[in-house]
Amino acid sequence: MELDNRTLLLVVTFSTAVQTAAMFYVWRMQLRERSVAQLTLGLALVALGTFLVVMRPTLPPILTIVAGNTAIIAGHAIVSLAVCEFAGRHLPTSFPIWLGAFTASILAIFTFASPNIGVRIVVLSILISLSLLPAVLALLSAPAGPLRRTYWPVGCVLVFHSLFSIARAAATAIGDTPADSFASSLVTAAWFLESFAAINLVALGLILMISQRLQLELDRQTSYDGLTGALNRRAFERVAEGEWSRAVRHDLPLSIAVLDLDRFKALNDSYGHDAGDVWLKSFAELARGLLRREDLLCRYGGEEFIALLPQTPVHAAMQVADRIRRGVDGMRISHGGKDIAVTVSIGVSTRNEAITSLKSMIAAADRALYRAKAAGRNRVESSEGS
Ligand code: GH3
Ligand code: MG
Ligand code: MG
Repeated sequence: MELDNRTLLLVVTFSTAVQTAAMFYVWRMQLRERSVAQLTLGLALVALGTFLVVMRPTLPPILTIVAGNTAIIAGHAIVSLAVCEFAGRHLPTSFPIWLGAFTASILAIFTFASPNIGVRIVVLSILISLSLLPAVLALLSAPAGPLRRTYWPVGCVLVFHSLFSIARAAATAIGDTPADSFASSLVTAAWFLESFAAINLVALGLILMISQRLQLELDRQTSYDGLTGALNRRAFERVAEGEWSRAVRHDLPLSIAVLDLDRFKALNDSYGHDAGDVWLKSFAELARGLLRREDLLCRYGGEEFIALLPQTPVHAAMQVADRIRRGVDGMRISHGGKDIAVTVSIGVSTRNEAITSLKSMIAAADRALYRAKAAGRNRVESSEGS
């Protein structure tokens, strides 16, 4: 079977152009983010570059060889830049510029001063791997987490593409120098076919990466309170039910603290709602700092919070609660030139024979909180003490 290499490259050009349009659509409709705009630009340059290369020999070599291949390498480097930005890795914006300038100079030398298509193919193949290296490193070294699941498939496709490119360089270096880039050659045909697969897989993978991050952001927004960053009530109840079942199954201690800021209405009335908001935020920060990683902090409503403390018996929960109470007591928030103080009352309860559900544990802590309020506020009371 004879494969026409010019037709193959035309197909690569066409599919890259289609993927560019898809990425542009993602940018326009979903995510006006710099990294997505860069991905669109990078893919567009690769499409333009391959198109110029296909146009040989209709157009002059300065366009088909120098400009075309420079656009391809710069396009790859911009895709790399975008991936690094997306994955939170720093890569200087000048990376595609330097790599593009280097490519253009080398190509000019081996096209006009000392024409040699073999050297051009070897250099371009190596430059493709080099341009993708920062993206590969950013994707494969990303910390474990839900995003990584969408990073590594793209990283692996890029590694494969880079290795294929180096193999092409090696095959060209040791084999017969081709007469031109469309001469019948199995290596070239395989390279164009692999490029076709890579461009489609990478574009699909990038769109999956983007949508996975949007999904995570959406989950975050629906699970956390926007002001304090604490879990909202619905998300808390879901996670806390899981903790409750785990504690029952393994017969582990589980405690809960209901925390309510004292006379908060008066604070709002005296200093304004904004001052109240600043206090709520600072309170959540302080509480989070004093809780362990496995504890859950939830904004249960208004100025009332719940802390769920897995594997914590009542005396330890009382200590944690009192640490938070003292922390709040000593904290002052500067707002509008005034130092504002607040106190907190806390009710604590623990899973025991009488408390048989999460709901009844919260109710018991609520009753303890009520006693703390009645006894003068700025106190910690436990349901065990009733
Ligand atoms: P107590 O010591 O009995 O708990 O008195 P309190 O004033 O804290 O309790 P109350 O339930 O009467 O009032 C709660 C106040 O919390 C009323 C409301 O203005 C304020 N609050 C609730 N949510 C927010 C919020 O998001 N921002 C601000 N600034 N205030 C809030
Ligand atoms: Mg209150
Ligand atoms: Mg309240």
